[in-house]
Amino acid sequence: MKPLIAGNWKMNGLASSVSEIETLVERLNGSAPEDRDVLICPPMTLVASLAAQFSDEAIQIGGQDCHSSGAHTGDVSAEMLADAGAAYIIVGHSERRADHGESDALVKAKAEAALRAGLTPIICVGELEADRKAGRAQDVVGAQLEGSLPETDDDFVIAYEPVWAIGTGLTPTIADIEEMHAFIRSKTRNNVRILYGGSVKPGNAKEILAVANVNGALVGGASLKADDFFPIVMAAPVN
Ligand code: PEP
Repeated sequence: MKPLIAGNWKMNGLASSVSEIETLVERLNGSAPEDRDVLICPPMTLVASLAAQFSDEAIQIGGQDCHSSGAHTGDVSAEMLADAGAAYIIVGHSERRADHGESDALVKAKAEAALRAGLTPIICVGELEADRKAGRAQDVVGAQLEGSLPETDDDFVIAYEPVWAIGTGLTPTIADIEEMHAFIRSKTRNNVRILYGGSVKPGNAKEILAVANVNGALVGGASLKADDFFPIVMAAPVN
């Protein structure tokens, strides 16, 4: 399976940030990038311009969220993101689940809207620290998968992101990552890519990306600078 290394810029990025992507693309072009998929998900304001500028390059551009359908002032639909040149959409990120009260059913509707628009959804799941400490991590993730995955055979991606590892510098042990990814694999098809996300950095990417059933990474803070993101992209083992 071709690894996918995806950068989630969250609410970071101005027009001037394009220089980081130019640097990233320059480095990728010198490094046989076609054996891995590289994705940057900037804020909505940059999707169209970055997709236009980098459409023939070694990276793809994605959205960080979309709405499913209907009249919703201020929201953006999957179809609009596709029209702007996006290839993927992150849905169900824990920050949206927590800050916007997004339910599994809504995440599923968004994933299905992305598929209808011809985009690949990256569906995020992950437990809170209290869930892990109480031995409930698999129960929580299993319920999120059950409620959030689309009921189609289309191509989607799952990102396992333990909430307590996002932006904290903490990561699960390698054994815990392996166990959770094996569990997620048991709940989905063999050709679905399962990304790990949560404090992936240049210093730990190689070890994490080598774990069985880890088919790439979803990277937040370390995706903002080409100097950090490029080594993470290159750390993915290719079959
Ligand atoms: C994320 O926001 O999805 C994420 C994984 O962030 P970080 O890499 O900064 O922990």
